[in-house]
Amino acid sequence: MTVWLASGNAHKQKELAAVLAGHSLVIPAGAGITDFEPDESGSCFAENALIKAKALYAHPGFSRAALSAGAEHSPVLADDSGLCVDALDGRPGIFSARYGSEGGKKAGAAERNAMLLEELNAALAAGTPDKQSRSCRFVCAMVLLYSPNRFCIVQETLEGELVADIKAVRGSGGFGYDPIVFLPEFGCTVAELSEEEKNNVSHRGRAGKAIAKLLAAG
Ligand code: IMP
Repeated sequence: MTVWLASGNAHKQKELAAVLAGHSLVIPAGAGITDFEPDESGSCFAENALIKAKALYAHPGFSRAALSAGAEHSPVLADDSGLCVDALDGRPGIFSARYGSEGGKKAGAAERNAMLLEELNAALAAGTPDKQSRSCRFVCAMVLLYSPNRFCIVQETLEGELVADIKAVRGSGGFGYDPIVFLPEFGCTVAELSEEEKNNVSHRGRAGKAIAKLLAAG
C-alpha cells in the first residue's frame, strides 16, 4: 500500500522503510512538496504527530497527488519522537530536535549531545544523593491518519541511561542522541546496535510494527 510519511527526516524514513517493508513510503519532498513545515505546537508527542499528519493531509500538494492517482487518499503516517531524561523532568522531550538551538542557529547532533550530558551532570551535582538517576527513554508517537477524523495513535518507548560524559560516547550507527544512550541489557549504546537490532527494540521500531499490523488489518 502507498503510505505518505509526514517527515523530512532521512533517518526516520530509513528506519521506517525497513519496518514497513512491503509498503511504499512517499515523503513530501519526493512528491514535489517543498514547503512542508508544520508548526509543532502540541504539548505532547502524540499531539505533535497528529499535527504533522493533519498538516500533510491538508496540504494542496497531497490532494493533487491523490486526485491525479484517481484514488482515494492514501493514509498519512507521522512520527513525533524525542529523548526524555528523568533527572531533567523529562526534558528535552518534545523539544529534542530543537535542544541547544538558539536564535535560529541549529546545534549539530554532537554539540547537542555534549550539552545534554553537561546539563545532566550539573543537575546531578546540584541534586541530593537520593536523586542520582541517569535514566532516560526515547519516546515515539506515531499516527496513521485516514482522514482528519479517522486515525490511530500508538506510542512506544526505549528505556536507557545517559552515558557518564562526552568521553563515554560510543558508536556510529543510528542518529541524534543514539551515541549517548546506553542500554544496560545490551551492554552498549543505541549507536552501537545494527540497524536491524535497533529496529527490533527501539521506540520507532516497535511503534512502526504496531502500525504495520494496523495496515495489514485494513
Ligand atoms: P521530531 O522530528 O520533532 O520528531 O524530532 C525528533 C528528534 O528527537 C530528532 O531530531 C532527534 O534529535 C531525537 N530522536 C528521535 N528519535 C531518535 C532516535 O531514534 N535516535 C536518536 N535521536 C532521536
